Amino acid sequence: MAGRTILISGGGIAGPAVAYWLQRYGFDCTIVERSAAPRAGGHAVDLRGASPWVVERMGLLDAVRARSLHERGLRMVDARGTKKVEMPAEAFGGRGVVADIEILRGDLAGILADATGDDVEYRYDQRVVGLEQDGDGVHARFSSGDEQRFDLVIGADGSHSTVRRLSFGPESRFSHPLGAYNAHFSISPELAAASGLDRDSSDDWFTIHNAPGRRMVGTRPDRDGGVKAMFIFGAEGVDAGVLRDPVEQRRVLRERFAGMGWKTPALLAAMDMADDFYFDSYAQVKMPSWVNGRVALLGDAGYSPSPASGQGTNLAIVGAYVLAGELALTQGDPAGLTEYEGAMRDYVERNQKLMPGGVDIMIPRSAAAIRMGHVLNRVMLSKPLRPLVARAFAAEDPFTPREYPDQLADAASSN
Ligand SMILES: Cc1cc2nc3c(=O)[nH]c(=O)nc-3n(C[C@H](O)[C@H](O)[C@H](O)COP(=O)(O)OP(=O)(O)OC[C@H]3O[C@@H](n4cnc5c(N)ncnc54)[C@H](O)[C@@H]3O)c2cc1C
Repeated sequence: MAGRTILISGGGIAGPAVAYWLQRYGFDCTIVERSAAPRAGGHAVDLRGASPWVVERMGLLDAVRARSLHERGLRMVDARGTKKVEMPAEAFGGRGVVADIEILRGDLAGILADATGDDVEYRYDQRVVGLEQDGDGVHARFSSGDEQRFDLVIGADGSHSTVRRLSFGPESRFSHPLGAYNAHFSISPELAAASGLDRDSSDDWFTIHNAPGRRMVGTRPDRDGGVKAMFIFGAEGVDAGVLRDPVEQRRVLRERFAGMGWKTPALLAAMDMADDFYFDSYAQVKMPSWVNGRVALLGDAGYSPSPASGQGTNLAIVGAYVLAGELALTQGDPAGLTEYEGAMRDYVERNQKLMPGGVDIMIPRSAAAIRMGHVLNRVMLSKPLRPLVARAFAAEDPFTPREYPDQLADAASSN
């Protein structure tokens, strides 16, 4: 094969997934990951679209199901915690807000990393700091001071990708903010109890509470009996510099969500004790091309659809499968990267389309709009409409990736 050594920046979802397929096809993969160790837990992601099909081909669907969260569905409550809407996960054929398969991002990343086996080299606590390519390969420099040549480089380092910045240009050219911020953190069972957030069976739901002024608070069950907390709010009036200042992030949250009902005060009180506080803006990554010579972007780095879409994990896993398959077909020639882009472009663009109303549907402006949302959801769930909505969801995603023959892997291993 012309391109045998491949550097992958990012050991999240897309990185290990593409390494899994590339090593099966006979490529030598090195993954650099900036975290010091694999990160467990994190937020819940869902396997939608074609991704369960890919995960099944990897032989990992049972492992994923065994680790999944078993959320019962989405529940909307008012300020007193009174139920307004209940959308079971199985409504709409498992394609609603809560999908058939929900799993913590860290658990999925761990399953994928374990599946890559010993042939893939993982270098933790390390970043790419320089990339220079010529006709034959790419010279990479690392934060450790090491330097190494690779035949190809894949940037799977998330929506704030370093590979994208080094090989394509600054983030501001490609990242399109959607006008909202989101914060997530985990609350251990002990902290939940101490904060007055004792879990009961009703907490097996993804529960959300909206308040006027574009604010949403939510809780999801954690696998250990704890709680995952989430806050989403409109970006108006908040300086973008907040993204660089974790102290300010917490202050803004407390200010924005002051006076909100349901469990909001207890969740805010628990926030300061959480050790995995995460804050970012909702944004989509849109690029004219994900390929520059011997460097390609994969997953959120090239085409994050934003957490608002629920499709990021799907695109990362399907993209990994297609990218590796095309490189196998072209025997590692950079032309395979262009083929990957051609095969994925339409699927990505369809999955970046948000539901009508976009983020505004998630964080309505007024009390009337919140009530209207509850009514609309109840209508969608009504007996006559439910099957029609399910069919509309199913028709949204007709993409079936090409079946890259398993013989490719067999041929590679006998070379
Ligand atoms: C709060 C939140 C909620 C979400 N909810 C959903 C959901 O419900 N459904 C869904 O499908 N998707 C959801 N997503 C999106 C989903 O997590 C991503 O789309 C998916 O994980 C994409 O995988 P990835 O591997 O491309 O990126 P990531 O999972 O972000 O992985 C990138 C990896 O690169 C590493 N990295 C970053 N920079 C560097 C560097 N310079 N050098 C080396 N390593 C680096 C990071 O540490 C990380 O491990 C959500 C995302 C967030 C943030």
